[in-house]
Amino acid sequence: MAVVVQKYGGSSVGTVEKIKNVAETIIKRKNKGDDLVVVVSAMGDTTDDLIGLAKKITDNPDKRELDVLLSTGEMISSALLAMALKDSGYDAVSYTAYQIGIRTSGQYGKSLIEDIDGNHLKESLEEGKIVIVAGFQGINEEGDITTLGRGGSDTTAVAIAVKLQGVCEIYTDVDGIYSVDPRKYSKAKRLSEIDYEEMLELASLGAQVMHSRSVELGQKYGIPIYVGLSNSETCGTVIKEVTNMNMESKPVTGLATSDEDVAVTIRDISNDTNVLSNLFEAMASRRINVDMISQTAPVEGRVNISFTIPKDDLKECLSVIRTYASKNSINIDEEITKFSIVGIGMKTTSGVAAKMFRLFSSNNIEVKMITTSEIRITCAIRQEDKLKAINLVAEEFKL
Ligand code: ADP
Ligand code: ASP
Ligand code: MG
Repeated sequence: MAVVVQKYGGSSVGTVEKIKNVAETIIKRKNKGDDLVVVVSAMGDTTDDLIGLAKKITDNPDKRELDVLLSTGEMISSALLAMALKDSGYDAVSYTAYQIGIRTSGQYGKSLIEDIDGNHLKESLEEGKIVIVAGFQGINEEGDITTLGRGGSDTTAVAIAVKLQGVCEIYTDVDGIYSVDPRKYSKAKRLSEIDYEEMLELASLGAQVMHSRSVELGQKYGIPIYVGLSNSETCGTVIKEVTNMNMESKPVTGLATSDEDVAVTIRDISNDTNVLSNLFEAMASRRINVDMISQTAPVEGRVNISFTIPKDDLKECLSVIRTYASKNSINIDEEITKFSIVGIGMKTTSGVAAKMFRLFSSNNIEVKMITTSEIRITCAIRQEDKLKAINLVAEEFKL
């Protein structure tokens, strides 16, 4: 019998009432005969509240202790859900990452899942139990608790589905993946399916509906991921390999925006590749994730160089710049939006970028930086132009 791995996000388990509703949904599924592993996020805004508590203690909480603190959110919801199921007469058990051996590596706050000890999960399923797992957490080589990055419970769920060769279902507060975040563009269309590659780009570029590493795992191991509302008649979206691209397919599948980056410009720096590589190597060694880069044409061997980094990395980045370009003037622009369009159809359709730039130029939207891949175009624009850009581009490409 197939193992079904479900994940319920923070809004689905936001109150005790909602946890009881989730328990009822799970029971209906269990009664159909499925073996169930259920991953839960922390209730509602618990993770934000816990971060708020830490910030009341110190501006710069110790990363190890912050992970210990944040992991408690998912432990609360998993225990409450197991209690609700037991109270209805069903055999359930809640597990932390430690108990089922979710081994992680990498940094606190953004660790990666290395492996999961599937045996423990399987034993509990064989005993007929409904297994509830605290999402978002793992245990590293030192035996410390780590977290997987915001939204990481999706990745816990897909990793368990991979390990158990199961089916993966992500339940959230929208009834599927839309061409644009429906909170930002109300006319967005729900997609019945989307290719892993497209979803991975959208998730990495700001569509927080899926944790990007969960999509990466699904793609690597060929596990389709269903995303939708629980207890709903409407059909959600399946993230999978989409092979039947036809002539009717649109060049652009979706659009995503992110306000989480900041643009840094270093003025009048030597256009010597050695100087630039020292600077970027130093940032890479500190794991500062440089994304878009642009450079002015050299004038007497000097250029202005601009790049974007996540806002969280700004402090670290400035300390690198102080070492490698201490004499240069620096400009920081925190009011940028990364605006991206994504579609596998772009591989075979020309003129998509031209259309978008024409729209931007005739509507006075300044493009500060551009990066592209085979299936996406990303521009840095002013935050104040974001909604106008979303509306124009979504209309143009019928998103
Ligand atoms: P959960 O707590 O269930 O993990 P999230 O808040 O992480 O839920 O993700 C759901 C939210 O993602 C939705 O409320 C929606 O506003 C947002 N979202 C962003 N981009 C998209 C998209 N392309 N399609 C659907 N939802 C999206
Ligand atoms: N509770 C964590 C967060 O808010 C993880 C998750 O929801 O997936 O980011
Ligand atoms: Mg989420």
